[in-house]
Amino acid sequence: MAIIVQKFGGTSVGNLERIANVARRVARCHDEGNKVVVVVSAMAGETDRLIDMAKSIKNPPNEREMDVLISTGEQVSIALLAITLDAMGYKARSYCGWQIPIATDRAFTAARVTDVGAEQVLKDLNDGYIVIVAGFQGVDPDGNITTLGRGGSDTSAVAVAAGLKADLCEIYTDVDGVYTTDPNITNKARKLHRIGHEEMLEMASAGAKVLHIRAVELAMNHRVRLVVRSSFNDNEGTLVTEENALMEKEIVSGVTCNIKEAKVTIAGLKDQPGVAAQVFSALADAHIVVDMIVQNVSADGITDITFTIPQADLVKTLELCEKVKEPLGARAVFGSDDIAKVSIIGAGMRSHSGVAARMFSTLAQEGINIEMIATSEIKISCVIKKKYAELAVRALHDAFGLDKVG
Ligand code: ADP
Ligand code: ASP
Ligand code: MG
Repeated sequence: MAIIVQKFGGTSVGNLERIANVARRVARCHDEGNKVVVVVSAMAGETDRLIDMAKSIKNPPNEREMDVLISTGEQVSIALLAITLDAMGYKARSYCGWQIPIATDRAFTAARVTDVGAEQVLKDLNDGYIVIVAGFQGVDPDGNITTLGRGGSDTSAVAVAAGLKADLCEIYTDVDGVYTTDPNITNKARKLHRIGHEEMLEMASAGAKVLHIRAVELAMNHRVRLVVRSSFNDNEGTLVTEENALMEKEIVSGVTCNIKEAKVTIAGLKDQPGVAAQVFSALADAHIVVDMIVQNVSADGITDITFTIPQADLVKTLELCEKVKEPLGARAVFGSDDIAKVSIIGAGMRSHSGVAARMFSTLAQEGINIEMIATSEIKISCVIKKKYAELAVRALHDAFGLDKVG
């Protein structure tokens, strides 16, 4: 008997009819003789609604209480799914994160999973139950409720799969796999039948929200067999797997954009040892994940640092930077969320030159100005004005011939 973890995202459980659809899928897998664990997200739009309510009171809201609030969406979904399965005549039991427990560190709103308790779930599975686990939720060493960051239910699913040593973890969503780019941006996007962990990690970190980055990390580290599929049809999905010698290494295999980042500049900083350390230590202590960093060439011992962070952390970041501004003798701090980061990703980039040049000239031909550039071994990212995001994605998708089978 195989243990299969199936995760359903917000759109897939968006209303009672869709929850019934999920229940039928889960029941089918159970009837085929598998032990099924289901991880669900909050119903579509619910987490946003809760966040907006809290922010209308105070922005940023108290983080401990924020997690108490935003974890509630998932509790509603697990109960509704369990009630639906029970009504269909199946034995089902739902659990919140703390009941499993899904143990995490203390980083409210962006907690990392440290351990998953398998005992109760395995007992229920052996007793013939379908087990339903709330995605997104965890519990810290002090017993506080935590959440895993936006999109974190994917990570809950992979963590549960790793904890149970499951045979398969299926991520059911509103698209039928991982595409060369977001299929909602261009209908030329092509489904990938398989993708290597490293490329998937880069795509997730560059904004392809189809998989949460930590879900990919956990799958890679714990060797979880991970598949992305549609909850609305039976199409074959995308297998996220080890990169092996047989895999064709496309120069560029995906284009992503992220419109959820913001850019912050600290101007007029002293160009001396320890300055960057102080700025970024303050941000790290507040668990703010900094993405791109650019420091200007120093003139007269004075320099500017510009970096990008998640848009949701902009207010907090500006507050922290204002605090360090004075001791560091900086002139000004300013931020903007009118940006998008477009990236091209491909394992074949390692062995090809001219990829960056082609990306920059493609953007230039569209009249798009590049504000920041960052590269890794298999990724090039450019920050541009937000209004050009989709245009840039389509132009790059065409320029690298991603609509054509390689
Ligand atoms: P869920 O609620 O099921 O977790 P998400 O909205 O988090 O779903 O992720 C699915 C969405 O990811 C798709 O609707 C699609 O718009 C987006 N997406 C972005 N990049 C890609 C990509 N390369 N391949 C597939 N989907 C992508
Ligand atoms: N409900 C959470 C969110 O909207 C977690 C998830 O859907 O994965 O971010
Ligand atoms: Mg998601």
